[in-house]
Amino acid sequence: MDKLSPVETALAALLEGVAPTTSETVPCDEAAGRVLAEAIEARLDVPAFDNSAMDGYALHHDDAGQQLPIAQRIAAGSVATPLARGTCARIFTGGALPPGADCVVMQERVTHEDDIAAIPADLPAGDNVRRRGRDVAVGAPLLPAGERLEAAALGHLAGQGITEVVVRRRPRVALLSTGDEIVDPGTELSDGQIYNSNRPMLKRLLERFGAELVRVVSVPDDAAGTRDTLAAAALEADLVISTGGVSVGEEDHVKAALESLGQLDLWRLAIRPGKPLALGRLPGPAGRDVRFVGLPGNPVSCFVGAWLFLRPLMGALQACPALAELPRLPARADFATRTGPRRHYMRVTLELGNDGIVARAFRDQNSGVLSSCISADALAVIPAETRIEPGDRLDCLWLRVD
Ligand code: AMP
Ligand code: MG
Repeated sequence: MDKLSPVETALAALLEGVAPTTSETVPCDEAAGRVLAEAIEARLDVPAFDNSAMDGYALHHDDAGQQLPIAQRIAAGSVATPLARGTCARIFTGGALPPGADCVVMQERVTHEDDIAAIPADLPAGDNVRRRGRDVAVGAPLLPAGERLEAAALGHLAGQGITEVVVRRRPRVALLSTGDEIVDPGTELSDGQIYNSNRPMLKRLLERFGAELVRVVSVPDDAAGTRDTLAAAALEADLVISTGGVSVGEEDHVKAALESLGQLDLWRLAIRPGKPLALGRLPGPAGRDVRFVGLPGNPVSCFVGAWLFLRPLMGALQACPALAELPRLPARADFATRTGPRRHYMRVTLELGNDGIVARAFRDQNSGVLSSCISADALAVIPAETRIEPGDRLDCLWLRVD
């Protein structure tokens, strides 16, 4: 148990057997950021009818190169009547192409006098026409199960006239802060006390990952209090998270509480920052397993641990593949560093240089220095026992994602 576990082993143990939450129906208006529980098929063609992509004139392409009487006017939303050969229709963007027409010529290319338009020659059939079903055809897959509903997907649903969707219930998360020295902003600090930075930071990240925070409480640094709080949290949450108290000091009670109540799957990890990170299970309602993640107290360790472990776990709880892994970008280091036995996740900003992406490391990478996370675009992954020189290639995990 005292060996340091690699991230991949820890993640596999954490995700093993995680069941997604149940599903529920919500109005599309409230579905932003939610994860589809079922695939959706198109029930309408989009566009619903052939229509004009331009303000201009609709005609049959064989009538190009002639003076054509303007037989009708078709604005978006109006009904088109069949177009006789040898005539054209004034048409506006989004207007329905009249039966008999097969192309649109943009108005800038046409001169007209009274009701006669001089149409240029050589117009191909289909020009400036948005064909019915070009975007989606009835019966085609619209969105897959596991899709996280963001702007374009919400637009796509509305385009189908859909008003409600079946999504995963938001995972219920309990967020516990340990540490007798930790107080909430709004209270006066006494000697030796510090404010709780981890709580708002993790709340924000967890909400972005899809969580519903059901219990956000502080835990005293004592064995009984820690055990009681963990046990109670597991009865109402799908996931229990704590910060601090996972080292081996006399004031660190989380590991012992977890071992006495449930199961400690893994403890110390071969990463920097974030080595003392406890993963395990607590007994939930009806003996169901509830996942537990004990993050270290240092704010930077919490930040990194949240991206590496909480995000994929929230992905598994919502059956959402997009949350499983952070996008990886190759970059060149503009710094030198070396690692020991632990893999290092350095907070870096990324910039596009002449020769690809350049990763610049925040100057102080200490795990207590939260400033390093503020402008971090990515975590540069430096393998264990590695020496990096400026110009060396690095793998970076992109953080500017949901
Ligand atoms: P611990 O893991 O409990 O030993 O905490 C490690 C360090 O992180 C200590 O310096 C704690 O004071 C600090 N720390 C723990 N929890 C928080 C928190 N919620 N906000 C800010 N710092 C914290
Ligand atoms: Mg502590």
